[in-house]
Amino acid sequence: MDERQRVTVLGATGSIGENTLDVIARHAGRYRVFALSCGSRWRELLAQCRVHAPEYAVVADHAAATELRAAVRAEGLRVEVLAGEAGLVEIAAHPDTDIVMAAIVGAAGLMPTISAARAGKRVLLANKEALVMAGRFFMDAVREGNAALLPIDSEHNAIFQCLPGGYRAGQASPAVRRLLLTASGGPFRSCPLADLEHVTPAQAVAHPNWVMGRKISVDSATMMNKGLELIEACWLFGMPSSRIEVLIHPQSVVHSLVEFVDGSVLAQLGNPDMRVPIACGLSWPERIESGAGTLDLVAGASLAFEAPDLARFPCLAIAMDAARAGGCAAVVLNAANEIAVQAFLDGRIGFTRIASTIAGVLDSLGCTEPESLEHVKAMDLEARAIAQRLLKNV
Ligand code: NAD
Ligand code: MG
Repeated sequence: MDERQRVTVLGATGSIGENTLDVIARHAGRYRVFALSCGSRWRELLAQCRVHAPEYAVVADHAAATELRAAVRAEGLRVEVLAGEAGLVEIAAHPDTDIVMAAIVGAAGLMPTISAARAGKRVLLANKEALVMAGRFFMDAVREGNAALLPIDSEHNAIFQCLPGGYRAGQASPAVRRLLLTASGGPFRSCPLADLEHVTPAQAVAHPNWVMGRKISVDSATMMNKGLELIEACWLFGMPSSRIEVLIHPQSVVHSLVEFVDGSVLAQLGNPDMRVPIACGLSWPERIESGAGTLDLVAGASLAFEAPDLARFPCLAIAMDAARAGGCAAVVLNAANEIAVQAFLDGRIGFTRIASTIAGVLDSLGCTEPESLEHVKAMDLEARAIAQRLLKNV
């Protein structure tokens, strides 16, 4: 009998998706690809199907799914092609899959990721936006489904590794005093403040240490990424934001730290390579080879730490406020950010308009605690509509 664990990769054609397939391919005796998905880039998904021979391939875009189905048939590949959110939910919760890598970018990943949690899968969470927007409902799904939730975001994975044994999703350990989230500061950490207005999308996505998708790269440049990660950490580790500190650490070698009540501080270090947390998530509590190189601390010279400058990074300040405000503010923050970042990437607004747009949407939407997942989705849509309206008035 085939005892390999069967992995579904949501967002397989992205940066995290490709890194996941790289790690899986190094351990063919241990893992087998069950299903792959993408948004619309069906040709890349077809290439992955040739190599990894999944049972299912899902394309969110229906027209692109039709194209993939025809191509799969023409090549005689034995893969069933599904389409849309229903298809994503089906492969995420399928009884024949054991592990689900949630690596769709943005709110589009919410329902498939929650479905995997409800179905009790081992959920490898890269798609932080899903947790940020639906926090309580997401964590409820994890508990109800008795799912194993493993953080893949490098900072959260570092904290997970530093915590005492027996991590329970959403529950704080009484031994922990504080969490310290590190951030590289992105490409604009030290450029003159006046230049920020004129930076281009190409400059914003050129991250100094990590190669990532375009949306998260812009989030790193504004430091909204760290703001989203702060909210993510509150949910994952059951901690209020007042006990989580953000630290700029330009080298991206110390991936985060945990301070214990006795004053001990544990950190996880490594080269900035997402295959490290991915391999950890796949194999935990065992360890497998990830393909990442050995860390050379001598060649890397010094490790520096500094407090973030909130005047330079207003998105971080806005997200910190949203973390304190709770439920609804996080939904609105995330939705407005997705719209503003896309507008920046499309050349419709300047870099500094990202923060002012998000602040404008948060100001114009009264906050009530979301009562259900449906309520969260309605708030998400409303915030997007308001953001689009604000952007029209540029
Ligand atoms: P990416 O843009 O490279 O890939 C995104 C994937 O999602 C692609 O496969 C794309 O086809 C799919 N997708 C896009 N829109 C979709 C839609 N509407 N429906 C279904 N699928 C859709 O992004 P990435 O850098 O791999 O990031 C993925 C997630 O992981 C994000 O939430 C990001 O914040 C998180 N993350 C990424 C990194 C990193 O190093 N790249 C690190 C930590 C966390
Ligand atoms: Mg991160």
